[in-house]
Amino acid sequence: MAAQEKNLADLFLDTLKDIYYAEKQILKALPKMAKAAQSPELKKAFEAHRDETEGHVERLAEVFELIGKAPRGKTCDAILGIIEEGRAIIEEFEGSPALDAGLVAAAQAVEHYEMARYGTLKAWAKELGHKDAVSLLDQTLSEETKTDKLLSQLGISSTNKMAA
Ligand code: FE
Ligand code: FE
Repeated sequence: MAAQEKNLADLFLDTLKDIYYAEKQILKALPKMAKAAQSPELKKAFEAHRDETEGHVERLAEVFELIGKAPRGKTCDAILGIIEEGRAIIEEFEGSPALDAGLVAAAQAVEHYEMARYGTLKAWAKELGHKDAVSLLDQTLSEETKTDKLLSQLGISSTNKMAA
């Protein structure tokens, strides 16, 4: 297909593949972050969000189905980089009181990436008239936003103080 023929529907599918790949990577990373977390609350937050993330993958599969496409991922270098930074924090701050604050920051970078993607996909689904997809994408966006807020709270109430 020539470049000038590509439209919003192509962009939507491409970005859907990007976040589908990203969610699957996040699904693998969250148990490692939960294992590394020192505070029980942070561990619990990572475990709970891992379970939510399974739902995110399922919702994306439903969106693929709604637009008549098979669910397929496409390598997302951004999420690989963000996850790699989290892995480096775990390695470099092991046994330090600043580890949890670093994990919160790494996790918030993941959530913000997801929020950016879901916000865009939601707007595009609306533009393309995929009403049911808008609702599915919005449900996940709400969970990412809620998780981001919880992480901010954990940082303010405990992990940042522990690190300082
Ligand atoms: Fe997610
Ligand atoms: Fe998330």
